[in-house]
Amino acid sequence: MPLFYAPKSYIVFAVFADAEPDISGSSPTFDALGLSEHVLRAIMEIGYKKPLQVQVECFAPAKAGRNLVVQSRTGSGKTAAFVLPILHRIDYSNSSPQVVVVVPTRELALQVHGEFERLGRYTGLKSVCIYGGTGFGEQFNRLMAGVHVIVGTPGRLLDHYRRGNFRTDQVHAIVLDEADEMLSAGFYDDIQKIFELLSNLKQVLLFSATMPFNMENLIKRYMKDPVRIDLSKDQVCVDRITNVAYSVDTSGPRIRTLIAIIEAEDPTAAIIFCNTRQETEVVAKYLGRRGYDAQYLNSDLSQTAREAVMAKIKAGELRLLVATDIAARGIDISFLPCVIHFDLPTDPQQYIHRTGRTGRVGRPGRAIAMVSVKDLHSLRRIESALGIKLKQAETPTREESLKMLADRKIREFKERLDAKPAIPEEFTTLAKEILADPDAEGLVSLLVDAYMSPPPAAVDDRAPDRRESELARSDGRGTRGFRPPRRR
Ligand code: AMP
Repeated sequence: MPLFYAPKSYIVFAVFADAEPDISGSSPTFDALGLSEHVLRAIMEIGYKKPLQVQVECFAPAKAGRNLVVQSRTGSGKTAAFVLPILHRIDYSNSSPQVVVVVPTRELALQVHGEFERLGRYTGLKSVCIYGGTGFGEQFNRLMAGVHVIVGTPGRLLDHYRRGNFRTDQVHAIVLDEADEMLSAGFYDDIQKIFELLSNLKQVLLFSATMPFNMENLIKRYMKDPVRIDLSKDQVCVDRITNVAYSVDTSGPRIRTLIAIIEAEDPTAAIIFCNTRQETEVVAKYLGRRGYDAQYLNSDLSQTAREAVMAKIKAGELRLLVATDIAARGIDISFLPCVIHFDLPTDPQQYIHRTGRTGRVGRPGRAIAMVSVKDLHSLRRIESALGIKLKQAETPTREESLKMLADRKIREFKERLDAKPAIPEEFTTLAKEILADPDAEGLVSLLVDAYMSPPPAAVDDRAPDRRESELARSDGRGTRGFRPPRRR
């Protein structure tokens, strides 16, 4: 990290990452687990070398039909921990639904469904992913064609059931993934209803990063004699992640500190978490107008737009994703080096979930919190609840961050210049005239401004007046002193 000459008064905090966990060491091989040759073939192709701890611990009891309560770190490989045994419990000659997997968000539904498709590709598995925000038609057609596994969000699962789109009498197993998130999102009743539909249920697999008190009610009610696997002891987010705090320079808008952090850290990619939908949009657009490759993700976007933006960040085609907590759970972007908490979450568990997007499967990660005096209370709660201390980093001054930005841009411009075969004489003459003009600085700034303007947003497919009115609303937030820039 670069060194800065920041004022001494900045408040800073620290925790150092522990050593990376050994995820290969003495664990058994996939062969030794007793997987079918179809599944082994898929694993070889995917490139998983050895089962991760959660997969080793879950496989035998889940395959034997036991109920499981698994408390496991986010990013630990827990999806495959239930997919692998389930693939061995399906009767492939029967195309009635046999397993239902319930997850809190559409993004997670797609991801979990993807893991079923990848690991089950040679087994003859038929599965469907059902979630709201998109039409029933295609999901209906797949259900009608016959499926072994249904992965879905609670509301849409119940909708399909009420329409008579699938039968439940052959469902022998249910998985609740990110169960704590489903409870905190108010899905308790829906989950109860789903349990009540499954008259032939023999097995419940419950996965959760945390165990809030109402989880025990659910466990007592629906899970007889569960095997409990607790892999959360080495705590959720801190073992290979460096947790850093930058103090917010309150003399300017908060987003200036964000830009200073981006310049100082220079992450190849990052998710920037905000507490409100409006803020994600405003921040992403502000960054876009400053020449950063940024897009926002919140629940106002259509499902297609959400999927498009997620696909971009996962493919490494987007540098900065500015998101609400819908991106905080379960979402797996394996290489993501950095998470920035533009706003600190008030709930320490949410800090864990957001932070868990980086440092996945043994890779190092950085979680950066932006802390102003007003955030100190939340920060202390997070630190004491999680038993961590954030590491102090010095926020670059405004001048330093502007200089870093300028240097970076000049490097970029030079690279483009080198790559360009020839520039028309008209332009080089114009450039000379501009540089000789007394208003050279203003004229060049105007050109840079035009150059930085982002192309029209590719994924924002909402009505323009709605976007504008939301921007106008967030315009006057005042408390952080941040206003979106006006277009000249
Ligand atoms: P999850 O906790 O299920 O979201 O998984 C986190 C990441 O671990 C995903 O990118 C998986 O593809 C990856 N993963 C799962 N199992 C293994 C394994 N045995 N070896 C290496 N990576 C894995």
